[in-house]
Amino acid sequence: MKSYNSFLVAQQQVEEAARILNLDKATTEFLKWPQREFKFTFPVRMDDGRFEIFHAYRVQYNYARGPAKGGIRFHPDETVDVVRALAAWMTWKTAVVDLPLGGAKGGVVCDPRHLSQKELENIARAYIRASADILGVDKDVPAPDVYTTPQTMAWMLDEFETIVRKHQPGVFTDKPLPIGGTEGRRDATSRGGVISVREACKFLNIEPKTFAIQGFGNAGQRAALLHEELLGGKLIAACDSRGGILNPDGINAKELVTHKLKTGTVLNFPGARHIPSDAVLELDVDVLYPAALENAISEKNAGLIKAKIICELANGPTTPEADLILYHRNIFVLPDILASAGGVTVSYFEMLQNSGGEMWEEATVHARLDKKISNAFQSFSDALREKGVHPRLAAMVVGVARVAEACKIRGWV
Ligand code: GLU
Repeated sequence: MKSYNSFLVAQQQVEEAARILNLDKATTEFLKWPQREFKFTFPVRMDDGRFEIFHAYRVQYNYARGPAKGGIRFHPDETVDVVRALAAWMTWKTAVVDLPLGGAKGGVVCDPRHLSQKELENIARAYIRASADILGVDKDVPAPDVYTTPQTMAWMLDEFETIVRKHQPGVFTDKPLPIGGTEGRRDATSRGGVISVREACKFLNIEPKTFAIQGFGNAGQRAALLHEELLGGKLIAACDSRGGILNPDGINAKELVTHKLKTGTVLNFPGARHIPSDAVLELDVDVLYPAALENAISEKNAGLIKAKIICELANGPTTPEADLILYHRNIFVLPDILASAGGVTVSYFEMLQNSGGEMWEEATVHARLDKKISNAFQSFSDALREKGVHPRLAAMVVGVARVAEACKIRGWV
């Protein structure tokens, strides 16, 4: 398969949006690059007593609208270009939902599947010792991402507060509740995605009766539960890195989550038959949720997709060639910078609570999230109508316009 440099894709998306918006050359060039990027190398003591050297990154892509914001991933294939692309997408994402935040992303090159809890803790703390001076509530605020969790944030916050010698809970979001986390953060990304599907269905006049989930991790599992709960549809297929399952009569999402927690995979779920992971993308469903990694939908399989709506819970699951194929085939893509913005939106609510010493009820978080995503969908659908471009470009136009405006008002370009 063709390999993609995600950062080149991200830059190309900026160029296309800038062209539609008639941005000047300097602004376009500025928005094509991270404002600041950091590379760290640190040794970590492993369980067997030896030291291993880890490479890590933090990219603060743009902070014209507010402190840089975005997750830290632990992944064996992490490269600076992947982190740059993800940091760019965070920038457009926070702008599309109109949060007073910029965009960032971090990564550590490691394989968490082969690391113990103690080793993961040592890596998390070493990352913060290397980066503490560039983080802060008014500078850059990390969160969990692929293979990192609220527990990772707890270790990071503890290390950070040990260094600065005061409480600063708002420097990290998606923390565990006892140390300043918020209600409603764990399912926020999926909830935002399902709300955007609800809005898209109204817009397109479609009923979200059947759906499939590619990637049955945290986001995929919660989307399955929430789609059932909020939209009443039927899950018919799901997959993880081990394989996929299908049952056209319907799969009970709650039972599948329990099965996955117990066995570590969706495979061997009673009543469902096994299918290859990739086949889950090609089923005849109303809504498809890609909830795994980048570039899952490419020119290779975009022509085979039969879903009416694709709700991108993962970051960057669709390649630019696939975007065009899907557009011409009348398949409606809810782009990641809108569809997966629920997580960072509730992260922002967590920052607000931390700074005001408040604890909101879950219903308050849900209601405010719904309003933010519904408003973002409105701006996105207005751009779709006005500009007559494919959905990702419409969302990019909304995000890039807002960031460009902030840069201009500051007098940067
Ligand atoms: N990692 C999540 C994302 O990609 C959340 C980021 C955050 O809350 O800062 O949107």
